[in-house]
Amino acid sequence: MSYEAFKDNTLGFTTRQLHAGYNPSEHFKAKAVPIYQTAAFELGDYERCLRLFKYEEEGDSYVRFSNPTNRVLEKRISSLEGGSAAVSLASGMAAISDTFLTLAKSGDNIVSVPTLYGGTTTLLQKTLSQYGIEGRFIEDPDDVQSYSKYIDDRTKALYIEALGNPGMNVLDVDAITDLAHSYGVPVVIDNTFATPYLFRPFEHGVDIACYSATKYLSGHGVNIAGIVTESGKFNFRNGRFPQFDEFYEEFKDWIDAETLEKEIFTKRLRITYLTDLGAHMSPQTAFYVLQGMETLSLRMDRHVSNAQKLAEFLDSHEKVTEVLYPGLKSSPYYELAKKYFPKGPGAIMSIRVKGGRDAALKVLEKVRIFDYMTNVGDAKSLIVHPESSTHFGHSAEENAKAGVYPDSLRLSVGIEDIDDLIRDIDQALSD
Ligand SMILES: *Cc1c(COP(=O)(O)O)cnc(C)c1O
Repeated sequence: MSYEAFKDNTLGFTTRQLHAGYNPSEHFKAKAVPIYQTAAFELGDYERCLRLFKYEEEGDSYVRFSNPTNRVLEKRISSLEGGSAAVSLASGMAAISDTFLTLAKSGDNIVSVPTLYGGTTTLLQKTLSQYGIEGRFIEDPDDVQSYSKYIDDRTKALYIEALGNPGMNVLDVDAITDLAHSYGVPVVIDNTFATPYLFRPFEHGVDIACYSATKYLSGHGVNIAGIVTESGKFNFRNGRFPQFDEFYEEFKDWIDAETLEKEIFTKRLRITYLTDLGAHMSPQTAFYVLQGMETLSLRMDRHVSNAQKLAEFLDSHEKVTEVLYPGLKSSPYYELAKKYFPKGPGAIMSIRVKGGRDAALKVLEKVRIFDYMTNVGDAKSLIVHPESSTHFGHSAEENAKAGVYPDSLRLSVGIEDIDDLIRDIDQALSD
């Protein structure tokens, strides 16, 4: 008998989420992926040491750089994504910040849509600017042609989230990647809200996908984790990125040229930023993420079906003035959602409650199954008042642009029995 499911990328998504990237024969035939709880690995002899560092042999030296448990996770997500390489990191923010640092240096800029996860907005607006990297925010993300205005010679990435936070606006990703590539600029997506099950970034021309694996990939709210994946198709040596040319020159006498150029983004992120800044994911965490990913497609199907039913219920509720969910026919993003999210546009939605902020806050007090938390993407249902938490400290004007109002609530719909969720929200909305 020969078990080969670990390397067969023609298998279906659900089969690969259980098998891809892990060959038990290389790990004492342990069926679950072992946690390699060690800080470092024996190099063996001088020749092997060189083979490891030259990328001629798969293996590990020091865990800040790589670890066999994490490598399984990286291979698995690459397989699910249809990408060529991945790096696991300590958090979603580590994944996003190391990606920006790999692409841009002082004097460069990153052009971004404004409807982002709050932490990323702050990173681009306030933190990276202290190091000379400018975050430029597009005024109207629905007007793709207008993106050109923000791109210049020093633009190193166009950064998007296909499902905007928290208004759940859907972007026309094909048009965006066409536009960016016409300038030689790569497109980076934060695909956390959708996961590779609901949205396929690389099939729409995206070059790099970042994840907060804290959310749906882990699925159960048990750890903080991040992943970056690379399509392997973008040419980072197109003249726009001198740091990649320098990196190539630095290592070309040591590493085979073809190997070095392959997945050069991932290599440079790992060799430079993962190593120097040290935000590696622990193997224990990699195990939890792998465990969660084994049921990703099943959970996402259930999340989406619950979200659709709840959105339809709330859409006709007398205490709800607006439901922002692109699975509703009333959503201006319904057609785009059908195109880009054939399995359903995620399970996060925003509602506006009749009666203003006080009425919204009362819902938070009264919910009994939904829990009042800033997190999303847990198997359990969560609810939050964005204005006073995720978007705390932003001006009313900024908030309105992101679809956040005093009477807004954001729901992350879990996988509980839908009748219970509907009943819970209904009683919380009642007087
Ligand atoms: C949570 C989240 C992040 C940040 O991830 P952490 O794992 O908390 O660092 C980034 N983007 C999105 C869309 C998120 O939901």
